[in-house]
Amino acid sequence: MTTNLPASINTIEEAKAFLTELHKNGESYHPEDDANELIGSSELWTREEGEQLNKLMEDIYNLEGNNGNHANPVFDPCEFLLELDPEYRAMVEADEETVNVCHCNNCGGVFYDDNPSDESIDYPLSEVKDKVSGSLELLEDEGGFFKGCPSCKTDGCLMDNLHDNK
Ligand SMILES: [Zn+2]
Repeated sequence: MTTNLPASINTIEEAKAFLTELHKNGESYHPEDDANELIGSSELWTREEGEQLNKLMEDIYNLEGNNGNHANPVFDPCEFLLELDPEYRAMVEADEETVNVCHCNNCGGVFYDDNPSDESIDYPLSEVKDKVSGSLELLEDEGGFFKGCPSCKTDGCLMDNLHDNK
């Protein structure tokens, strides 16, 4: 394999350098997997190298502070590898956080829509959060309670999604 495998990893700095190297060489993988069980791994590294990879990942999970904790380690090698790959990370985040919004045709305000219709688009939160001014307000009229525009005090001008022409 291309990556130079150290004998051991004893600090977070060493862990970062090692994982960065793995990523650069296209040899990164999910750190909790057995390096020798991965499909195609025999083309990437020898069994001895695989054993050493397993040992190094174990070293990382046993770093001071991590103490063998795989579920929620202080320094998470999996999280670190995700950060090295911003495109993949953006995809994961966009996948996790989407919101529905509506806008008010009267004042132009944009609000989170917690009761979206079939026409409502799932927006990635990062794409709309700067445009949204807040939540709808719970209002009451002779017909009962409803969610409406906090400025205009009506739901009569609320439209799905962002303004079409903006
Ligand atoms: Zn309004």
